[in-house]
Amino acid sequence: MSQVSTIDWQIATVRSIHVESPRVKLFTLELPAETPFRAGQHFDVRLTASDGYQAQRSYSVSSSPEPAPNPTSIEFAVELIADGEVSSYFHEAVEVGDQIEIRGPIGGHFTWSPIAAKPVMMIAGGSGIAPIMSMIRHRSNADVIKKTPMLLMFSARTEADMLFAAELESIAVNDPDFHLIVALTRSEEVASGNRPFRHLRRIDGPMIESALSNLATHPSRSYICGGSSFVEAMANHLLDLGIPNNSIRTERFGP
Ligand SMILES: Cc1cc2nc3c(=O)[nH]c(=O)nc-3n(C[C@H](O)[C@H](O)[C@H](O)COP(=O)(O)OP(=O)(O)OC[C@H]3O[C@@H](n4cnc5c(N)ncnc54)[C@H](O)[C@@H]3O)c2cc1C
Repeated sequence: MSQVSTIDWQIATVRSIHVESPRVKLFTLELPAETPFRAGQHFDVRLTASDGYQAQRSYSVSSSPEPAPNPTSIEFAVELIADGEVSSYFHEAVEVGDQIEIRGPIGGHFTWSPIAAKPVMMIAGGSGIAPIMSMIRHRSNADVIKKTPMLLMFSARTEADMLFAAELESIAVNDPDFHLIVALTRSEEVASGNRPFRHLRRIDGPMIESALSNLATHPSRSYICGGSSFVEAMANHLLDLGIPNNSIRTERFGP
């Protein structure tokens, strides 16, 4: 299988669709050719209506870059946005076997290609877990970086909105170097209060400070992904805690 250019539009085929939460579906796309990408990168998606109208959006890859170096499929985690043009098309119209125009991989800033096993911190809000999930899966798949200490703080509205819950919990239970902290912001105590890793609150400065004690040293790199206001608030908390600005990488999905 040959490799393709990352700037030309390609046709990918929807291989599977999985309802991951009430607002997020996972789409596995078969790529037209081997396409190496780095954990954290995204692809552009372009929809074209019969009258020629086009809409283009970006979606992060949530799957691992393995089998490295030439994966032939990618997974997107698409959150349904009320009145959203492209996300509602994905949720309401796309079916297995459909062909979708994509271009990528794109992005070099919000990526993780560890050279040394230095501690990494991640803070995700909602579907902002997508590129971070690719990094976590990459770590699990690549022997050389399996021991990289990783701390994930994941904010979701309710238990049902927590994406990749079983996979993340399984890694956290079995891997002493992976630390998971889930903040459920709109949950009922009865439903979620006694589940492992769950906290019924918002992520704030004191919570991050306490979570950082799971790492032997300050993280060498921190990744924050989600809506703009979430990303900004979390980045400010990290700066207040003395984490250097140049070690913080952010990706904003929307307002
Ligand atoms: C680099 C990058 C990676 C991204 N990766 C993902 C991903 O992995 N999964 C994913 O679901 N999205 C991701 N996004 C967001 C995605 O590109 C779209 O912006 C999103 O799906 C909304 O598009 P839409 O056409 O449905 O909504 P639009 O028609 O563009 O917007 C409809 C309304 O919703 C508002 N809106 C737009 N986006 C959001 C949002 N995220 N939250 C709340 N309100 C919003 C708009 O301001 C507008 O008022 C990413 C964005 C970027 C820049």
